[in-house]
Amino acid sequence: MSQTRTEISTLGEFGLIQRINKSTSINLKDTVKGIGDDAAVMDLGEGFGLLTTDLLLEGVHFDLSFFPLKHLGYKAIAINIADIAAMNGKPHQVTLSLAISNRFSVEAIDEFYEGVHAACKDFNVDLVGGDTTSSRSGLVISVSVFGRVSKDKITYRFGAKANELLCVTGDLGGAYLGLQLLEREKQVYLANPNMQPELDGKDYVIQRQLRPEARMDVVFELEEAGVIPTSMIDLSDGLASDLLHICAQSGVGAVIFEDKLPIDEQTYLAATELKLNPITAALNGGEDYELLFTVPQSAYDLIKNNPKISFVGYITEKANGVLLHTNGDNRIPITAQGWN
Ligand code: ADP
Ligand code: MG
Repeated sequence: MSQTRTEISTLGEFGLIQRINKSTSINLKDTVKGIGDDAAVMDLGEGFGLLTTDLLLEGVHFDLSFFPLKHLGYKAIAINIADIAAMNGKPHQVTLSLAISNRFSVEAIDEFYEGVHAACKDFNVDLVGGDTTSSRSGLVISVSVFGRVSKDKITYRFGAKANELLCVTGDLGGAYLGLQLLEREKQVYLANPNMQPELDGKDYVIQRQLRPEARMDVVFELEEAGVIPTSMIDLSDGLASDLLHICAQSGVGAVIFEDKLPIDEQTYLAATELKLNPITAALNGGEDYELLFTVPQSAYDLIKNNPKISFVGYITEKANGVLLHTNGDNRIPITAQGWN
């Protein structure tokens, strides 16, 4: 180890992953894709295998004072399935590891696994293993998913080309606003435990935060329509940040249109109530776990009638940059933190 000490904050999450990637070598013939996409890819002969993993920490990724354990179990599985969906793959087996403190009862763990099993049923995967250990601090959850995809259908983050269409599934910003509402209610409760939570009419955005879905349905529908996306990513960090991944890895630019961003009515209402900008929530909110993908223009007619798919923009040459076309007809560069 060298004598210098560099703070991790100078690199950021993505810089750190890049650094790990640089120091990592791929030595096996059947490793097709290592670090850098939503899942690693291995050659199984017949088709490709997919492997993805995520770590969830209490206090960082979830707050148990408002996160029901059953939903947490569901979400832990769903967010990993979303990474398999982002490769245009199908999930098969799951492992789940837990570090638990003595704060948890057997009943609490049962409740957590109710959610895990519900997700396994919904996404048609088998829970096949894991590890259990004690934790001195909070709850730690680690999930890995193995999936499969045929070699002609795999979709990476690279592969987008100029003039292709940018598509988003579902709607955006809801999960972020759901979290803001839950955190507000928590503060109200802490200040006065007799106050009743004011979450009436907010069920959709709350559900977006507590019980996200992975868009396997759209993966199947694209297959039925005979459409193979040219690039794809799941929206875990927010449209802005995840679009920048697609553009950087594909070596392209993009334009997205403010008035084409799919935003649910409840998301608008919650944003207004919290004095937040719904467009900013849609661009930077994160945790929606919808899919962002590109298709050639020739695919438009095949998917234009799918109500789950919105056409939000198109791919340009790299030199044009990654831009938001606002309702006022300005074009503003998109940055990972949002737009200025
Ligand atoms: P996602 O949001 O799709 O889960 P991440 O941003 O977490 O993707 O990770 C991007 C890529 O970096 C993935 O290929 C992931 O496996 C890899 N990665 C993240 N952290 C590490 C690490 N500590 N060591 C090796 N690879 C990592
Ligand atoms: Mg991902």
